Amino acid sequence: MRLMRVGPAGAERPVAALDDDTFVDLGRLTGDIDGAFLAGGGPDRVREAVAAGALPRFDPAGKRIGAPVARPGAVICIGMNYAAHAAESGAAPPEHPVIFFKTPNTVVGPNDAVLLPRGSSKVDWEVELTVVIGRRARYLDSPDDAAGVIAGYAISNDVSERTFQIEVSGGQWSKGKCCETFNPMGPWLVTPDEVGDPQALRLRSWVNGEPRQDSSTADMIFGVHHLIWSLSQYLVLEPGDIVNTGTPQGVALSGRFPYLTAGDVVTMSIDGLGTMEQRIQPAG
Ligand code: ZN
Repeated sequence: MRLMRVGPAGAERPVAALDDDTFVDLGRLTGDIDGAFLAGGGPDRVREAVAAGALPRFDPAGKRIGAPVARPGAVICIGMNYAAHAAESGAAPPEHPVIFFKTPNTVVGPNDAVLLPRGSSKVDWEVELTVVIGRRARYLDSPDDAAGVIAGYAISNDVSERTFQIEVSGGQWSKGKCCETFNPMGPWLVTPDEVGDPQALRLRSWVNGEPRQDSSTADMIFGVHHLIWSLSQYLVLEPGDIVNTGTPQGVALSGRFPYLTAGDVVTMSIDGLGTMEQRIQPAG
């Protein structure tokens, strides 16, 4: 199942895509797609209502798509989780998962503009598989228990300002990760049954139509289930939280490509999770 939020920012409606052409409005079931909806068995209630023919059709044509989960409580990011990306960043592959955080208000719709922060010169793209948490998770016994707390998957662009992140960071990456609009996400929250093996997904990015990243989640150093289990040993994951699982090689930090400038268009796709596209604009 694909869950979406469609409409103006701050006034999105909950929607389910039954296939590429058929959409239903979930307003009779929930006010929004958020942590409470996911923890309360929302996707199962959607399936039952669809089977009963109880939901009205919805036409998304011409409408903005929002991030597929409202107001994440936490945006948790994994750094250096692909060996070739660690190498292009001048770092050794980590022995333990590297964690950093983004402020939740960085999360915007999949096709919203990305703003170049004032004083920025090194704005970079990072296509990532993002995990949406569906149940509270604390001290999971093993990676095998992770699947039970995952509501689904989406694409994130972990936009990064490398000067802020590295040169004036003071040692913490978050300064270059939390700028306004720096986490486009979407277009759908796809439930795990439809995604299949999360370690067998091709993920790609382009800038102005030219290829940048092209890899597979098979190349993750720490897989999705290991990451969720590991995180739960150090923090409590809440329904609606998202976990960006790291980016593969092919970002501007490598020196192989120029950083983003106003007017550039970034496109990202992951197998089964759709495509998203952001135009780069000055923050003003
Ligand atoms: Zn990242």
